[in-house]
Amino acid sequence: MDSCDIAFDTKHIWHPYTSMSHPIPAYPIVAAEGAELIMEDGKRLIDGMSSWWSTLHGYNHPVLNQAVIEQLGKMSHVMFGGITHPPAIALCKQLVEITPEPLECVFLADSGSVAVEVSLKMALQYWQARGEKRQRILTLRHGYHGDTFGAMAVCDPDNSMHGLYKGYLPPHIFVDAPQCAFHDEWNESDLQPHKQQLAKNHRDIAAIILEPIVQGAGGMRFYHPNYLKGVRELCDHYGLLLIADEIATGFGRTGKLFACQHAGISPDIMCLGKGLTGGYMTLSATIATRHVAETISNGEAGCFMHGPTFMGNPLACAVANASVKLLLESPWQKTVEKIEEQLKTELLPLAHYPSVHDVRVLGTIGVIEMKHPVNTAELQKIFVAEGVWVRPFGKLIYVMPPYIIKPDQLSKITQAMEKVLTA
Ligand code: PMP
Repeated sequence: MDSCDIAFDTKHIWHPYTSMSHPIPAYPIVAAEGAELIMEDGKRLIDGMSSWWSTLHGYNHPVLNQAVIEQLGKMSHVMFGGITHPPAIALCKQLVEITPEPLECVFLADSGSVAVEVSLKMALQYWQARGEKRQRILTLRHGYHGDTFGAMAVCDPDNSMHGLYKGYLPPHIFVDAPQCAFHDEWNESDLQPHKQQLAKNHRDIAAIILEPIVQGAGGMRFYHPNYLKGVRELCDHYGLLLIADEIATGFGRTGKLFACQHAGISPDIMCLGKGLTGGYMTLSATIATRHVAETISNGEAGCFMHGPTFMGNPLACAVANASVKLLLESPWQKTVEKIEEQLKTELLPLAHYPSVHDVRVLGTIGVIEMKHPVNTAELQKIFVAEGVWVRPFGKLIYVMPPYIIKPDQLSKITQAMEKVLTA
């Protein structure tokens, strides 16, 4: 069995959002299968996080493994400039088919943040090609779109890294996040901030970017589908592009294949990532309408100006292709519904704990919002002792397990979530 040199790790390796001088522990995982992570000492942890939304079918899946192995025997990578290959074509065909019409022009890139960068650049080039200087993006408070500069600039200005990088980030326009929750009665006044901003500034605005239905890392908030519908209508009214960041919500997480479908709308540009490869490796797709793609291509530059080295990586495309196929061939909607029901049954009663502010569930996403920020390291220790993997942040103790999780495994996670409330 492989072993982890923890002392080396602690001294030399950066972990996400973790201090190099006072790091919190990183747990040694040496293998994973199904819904379980396997620690160096053989202990198994039931995975509540899907490796940050990405694992759909579980770890070490025979079909996905086979897709990687087969592609590895042909070629692991080849440049995409002037070259194409079957895995990219097969994947893009599937994406064009399953994403809402009229999305049909697919740009493949490395990660979710890059997909967001690509979408923002597309919006800028779109308006340049139309001879208009529109460089501002309208977005929502509590939003999160990634950690690169363009993406950071459209993350919530308070609950993100805006303060740290002040001066480097382009000043975009933020409106208050919607207040109507997914299951609330709809209140039209939620759209008022948008209406006011657009009335004032629409001539400077290139696009609106938002996470459809679920605002993830910015607060795990589930908002009303009519809000999304209203934003689409406002974009149409003012002729603005709508960018839907479905990086976290895509591939069934919220109960629909894409969260936009809760509102029956289609964006002008959609960003996909995370679950695209079933969590096997990094890949993203930014999908635009033909109108957007052709407007950009008929502009001064003559093409869209972006081209990552690993664009369309065949290994990633092959596994993504297999993962999407596996999902579509499975009764994923029923599966997600069952997980949702179980999460509701087991988590909603926890709302009575005095330390809890709110409990909410949508699709496979279960959230306990605490009244005060939690101690991530301390809670994680308890979760690991209970044999589950949950990584809370801020005031949020949340889970989004892989779709193949079994009811008894999910119960173990929700029981551990209750246990930390009383710790
Ligand atoms: N957008 C959303 C909605 C996300 O949740 C994330 C990742 N947490 C990103 C973009 C960035 O993706 P990545 O981490 O792959 O760059």
